[in-house]
Formats: sequence, structure tokens, C-alpha cells
Amino acid sequence: MALAQQADASLGDRSTPTFASTDPASGAVVGVFPVRDEAAVRAAVERARTAAERWAGLGFDGRRRRLAAYRGSLARRVHELADLVHRENGKPHADAVLETTLAVDHLAWAGAHARTVLGPRRVSPGLLAANHAAYLEYQPLGVVGVIGPWNYPVFTPMGSIAYALAAGNAVVVKPSEHTPAVGEWLAAAWRAAVPDAADALQVVTGLGETGAALCRAGVGKLAFTGSAATGRRVMAACAETLTPVLMELGGKDAMIVDDDADVAAAADAAVWGAMSNAGQTCIGIERVYATERVYDAFVAEVTAKVRGLRPGSDDAAAYGPMTMPGQTDVVRRHVADAVAAGGRVATGGTVEGRYVAPTVLLDVPETSAAVREETFGPTLTVTRVRNAEEALERTNANAHGLAGAVFSGSRARAMDLARRMRSGMTSVNSVLTFASVPALPFGGVGESGFGRIHGADGLREFTRAKAITRRRFALPVDLMSFGRPASAADALARVVGLVHGRHR
Ligand code: NAD
Repeated sequence: MALAQQADASLGDRSTPTFASTDPASGAVVGVFPVRDEAAVRAAVERARTAAERWAGLGFDGRRRRLAAYRGSLARRVHELADLVHRENGKPHADAVLETTLAVDHLAWAGAHARTVLGPRRVSPGLLAANHAAYLEYQPLGVVGVIGPWNYPVFTPMGSIAYALAAGNAVVVKPSEHTPAVGEWLAAAWRAAVPDAADALQVVTGLGETGAALCRAGVGKLAFTGSAATGRRVMAACAETLTPVLMELGGKDAMIVDDDADVAAAADAAVWGAMSNAGQTCIGIERVYATERVYDAFVAEVTAKVRGLRPGSDDAAAYGPMTMPGQTDVVRRHVADAVAAGGRVATGGTVEGRYVAPTVLLDVPETSAAVREETFGPTLTVTRVRNAEEALERTNANAHGLAGAVFSGSRARAMDLARRMRSGMTSVNSVLTFASVPALPFGGVGESGFGRIHGADGLREFTRAKAITRRRFALPVDLMSFGRPASAADALARVVGLVHGRHR
């Protein structure tokens, strides 16, 4: 990424450093963007703070209408956006269309459900406050900062943006330095579709330092999606101002293939889950544990399917180049480490320029980097296990816990395995499906982070719960008054004994 100095009209005559984003397939420059410094980030957050008041004041219906105008514009321009994603990230156009469609669906759900999930409601006041009315509501935090990755530059930040906006917050986004054009496009589309709340969604471009400045700019919450290493730095920066954080980090997701699984379906899903988007998917399948009974058939199916895949940048290619040049080194290291430890390459294992051949690795020890660490490439390890219990044990032994999949012919067995899988999300007899269900929360455990986007939990994530009580009438004895009689404590002890004392 080349840094340069360029006059930036938006900053008067001050000279602002810039950086270029490039097409990973051709190296052609896609766009040149300013590196926003601390002052510029703070200015954006201050503009957002003003916009947030007006945005919150529009209420659920006003916001829903404007979010609908935004999603309408994205839906009408889906091919234009997909083309930009293809050029800047490298994924096939069709995959970029799918990604945009998912984001549009989440915008629709968030706008439609915000009132039900967050709006004011009365709750039971309970025994001690029976003379009061009790109210609960979820209020916006003000300005939410979003720091995003490059692998799903529309879908991933939109998981925070849509839900934070629907909850009544303004949003300032720092897109990945590898996909700033997509970030700028999303903000420009917002300004065009929602001109009366243009500053409710802003983008600040730049590298890691710009992200760090956003952490320190006084936002109400920082939603981070990226690697665990950067996540730790983001948390440290946010700790300085006690800014709460949402962490959507990496994964090492596993698929369990049980004795009675549909092996052909499992193989098809594993190949898509592992290889689509060149394996650069946080919830991509990186490990498969197949039982003895199905292992040979599964490996044969997967290997045959993988041999039919071809990476490239043309429309017929299965997946594109690695978006970041450095990622090919990680894939090389994991493959070499697996082979050195006794693993076998069933197919693939080669890297040409930015293109990694679809790779299936067998007999890789559990201690290898290819099984332990996030590879983020079009690779899959397949390991033979005695039974599904052993598969689950190995699945859960990883520090990550983002998502995963179970293939089984038995509904009860599959649901039991899914529940006991140490992950935030599991698909049964498919892969990645939970991400396309807007009502389901999305997020991980352990090294995969904490907090949730999507669904009702995703809306609440960008709010603070507000509790209000209102006294409806006075009681003869007010327990919370220095004027209460001395006998009140005995009366209270008798009541609590009657109501709760019988429980042993
Ligand atoms: P990354 O951690 O390198 O960068 C993420 C973002 O953080 C970028 O915008 C970057 O500029 C910014 N950043 C870098 N240093 C910073 C700092 N000191 N302070 C603040 N911000 C800083 O991650 P990446 O390579 O862009 O993304 C790939 C990772 O993201 C993978 O691990 C993948 O699994 C993960 N991911 C997770 C999810 C999820 O929902 N859990 C979704 C997509 C990707």
C-alpha cells in the first residue's frame, strides 16, 4: 500500500497523506483515499454526535423509513456495488451480489424490528414495589464507531451499521485499508438516499492509526471486526476511556460428519464453506472431523469436487486471488508445517502469485498450525475420528469458537451436537446458514470474541437498558423512609418467610 501526500480539499490547504487501494488480481489502483488523522476522526465523531440527536429524535418509524430508502438504493445498485467489491477485494461478482443481498436483508430486519425489541414496555414491579409501575426501554448510545475488515466489506460492517442505526445511533466507520472504496461507496449511497440525516453515517479512511483514533474519539461503543491480535489493541485503546467494545474476531470452524450423514451433501457444503471467497471467511470451514464409517467416502467426494475448482479473476472462476499479498505466506506456512508433521496433501498445496490452489490436507496432527490457527485460505484439513463424540471433543479443543457445522441423519443427535459445540453459531446439514437469518445473533466465544450483531441481541448491543419506576399510589408504610415504624422490619421478615421460606 503506497502512502503519498496529497492536497485534500476537505481539510483546507493542509496536506494530507493518502493511500491507494488496489485490485488484488491486476494490481491496478482502484482509488486513492486520505489517511484521516486524530483531529479529522474527532471532527467526524462530533458531526455524528449532532446528527445522532436528530436521528434518535426521528423515532422508530422515521428511522425505519430512511433505512428502507437506503436498502432500496443498495438493492437497485447491487451490480454496481458488486463490481466494486470484485475489483477491490477480488471475489467473484456473483459472490459479491450474494454478500450485498444479505446486507440488504439485515437492513430490512433491523429497521422492521427495532421498535418491538427496543421500545418502551411495562414490566412486573414485583412484590416489594407493587405500588409502582415499572418501565424498561433500550436507548441509543449516541455515536457508534465501527472498524471493519476487508473480506466481506459490505456484509460485515453492515452487521453493525444497520443494527446501530436502527437502534437510534449515528455511526462512524473506519473501513479496512484494503477496501476503502467500498466503505466510501456505502457512505455516499447513504448521503444520497437519506440526505436529511447525511452525517448519521460517515466513513473515515486510513490505516490502523485511524482506527486507533476512532477508539479514542469518545464514541459510545466500538464495534470491531478483525483479527484477535488487533482486537487486543483496540480493547487496550478503548480501555483508556472506558469505551465498551464488541469483538467479532477470527475463527477455526469445524464440521462434524457423523456415521449417518449424507456424505455427498456434507462434502459439497465443506468445499463451499472452505473454498468460497478463497477461504477468507471468518465463519469458513477450516477443519472436518469425519467418523471412521464415512471418512473414506467423504475424502473421495471432497477431493473430486475440489479438483473441479479453479481460482481466477474471470466470471467462471470459483474464487479469486488472496486479497492481501501476505496471506499467501500464512497458507504456505500452514501447509508446510502440516506436511512436516506427517500430514498428506490430497490435492492442491501450491501457490502461484496471489492464487492458492484449493487444498485438502489429510492426517494432520492436532498440534499443527493448520489445525490450531486460522489459515484464512482455500484449505481444509480432514481428520478421521472414532465417532461424533471424539469429533466434538476435538472441535471444542480449539481456542476459537466462532461457528461450525454438523452433518447427521438424526435430527436429535445433530441438535445435541450443535448445542454442545463451543461456538456462537452452528448449522445442521448446511454451512454458514445462520448468517443469512437476520433474526439470529452472530458472534463468537473465546478467541473469536464477544458481543453479538444481528437479530434482537444485535439491536440491544447498540443500546443501554434504561429502567424507570413511577409510584402509582402511596402505601400506609413506606419501607424506604426513615419514617417507617420499628415494627416494619418484623412484618417484612414474616412476609418474606411466608413467600420464600418454604423453599429448601
Ligand atoms: P485486521 O485485524 O488486520 O484489521 C481489521 C481492522 O482493524 C482494519 O480496518 C484495520 O485498519 C484496523 N486496525 C488495525 N490496527 C488497528 C489499531 N491499532 N487500532 C484500531 N484499528 C486497527 O483484520 P483483517 O485482516 O482486516 O480481517 C481479517 C480478520 O477478521 C480475520 O481474522 C477474520 O476471521 C476476522 N473476521 C471476523 C468476522 C466476525 O464477524 N467474527 C468477520 C469478518 C472477518
